[in-house]
Amino acid sequence: MDYDAILNDIYADVQPLLGHGAIATYIPELAHVDPLKFGMAVQRLDGRVHTIGDAHERFSIQSISKLFTLTLAMQREGDAMWQRLGREPSGNAFNSLVQLEYEHGIPRNPFINAGALVVTDIILSHFGNAQQSVLDFVRRLSQTDDLTFDAAVAASERATGFRNAAMGYFLKSFGNLHNDTVAVLDAYFHHCSLAMSCSELARAATFLANGGRLPWNDESIVTASQAKYINSLMLTCGTYDSVGDFAYRVGLPGKSGVGGGIVAVMPEEFAVCVWSPALNESGNSLAGTRALELFTTLTGISIF
Ligand code: GLN
Repeated sequence: MDYDAILNDIYADVQPLLGHGAIATYIPELAHVDPLKFGMAVQRLDGRVHTIGDAHERFSIQSISKLFTLTLAMQREGDAMWQRLGREPSGNAFNSLVQLEYEHGIPRNPFINAGALVVTDIILSHFGNAQQSVLDFVRRLSQTDDLTFDAAVAASERATGFRNAAMGYFLKSFGNLHNDTVAVLDAYFHHCSLAMSCSELARAATFLANGGRLPWNDESIVTASQAKYINSLMLTCGTYDSVGDFAYRVGLPGKSGVGGGIVAVMPEEFAVCVWSPALNESGNSLAGTRALELFTTLTGISIF
């Protein structure tokens, strides 16, 4: 398989799409990103890496952080977390409030914002500090010591994240946040503000293609069953209310963020990350989704 040639073909193919869709300006600090950026990285289990375009430039990982926070919470809390969270696709926008009311404060899944706030609360209860614990964890997964939160992005979200704040207090009213609401929100905003490149994100997700173990030192991050659970949740809930379209076109479990990144996993083979900042109506990278669709089509490799 000539991954480099395939990435070259994809790069050429998506050029006319770059800039189509919309940058996530509801977080003011994200509005400065160049909509024409495009990067892609494939991290294979044998250590080989293939990249194209802006694959080494860091961007705001936003909701891709929900993949790492879920992993950490699952590692510490195990199945008990499912008393406070569902495992079904929401069919609603990632920041929707309506479902929470009639489902009594139990978020549909860990990948919508309300679910990630509960996950952050679980991490806060276990570690006391939900920012440093997540930063250390993602540094370990990506083998990158200099990862940091983007303070400007975190502040921008704190200043304008009224909907997330409403969600936090709503969850609190149902007794589904155990820690201080402001502390949970602050940690959540920091997780979303993590700046990482495609190559770093692909490396950080590789354990999910490898039965829960880091391929370079065989360290166990989660059990093989838990890796299966996380991949299944990504497939059914990782790309919000267009998760069906994403699964249909790409055929891999994936997790997106409004920074324009998408991470996808092919068990036993690779983790891949694509970045293109302009988004479709559901908040998934428009050109990024197309690039992943081309990737599984041209390689003939998907979970199906
Ligand atoms: N930080 C963003 C928010 O809370 C994350 C949303 C996303 O990436 N889908 O709205």
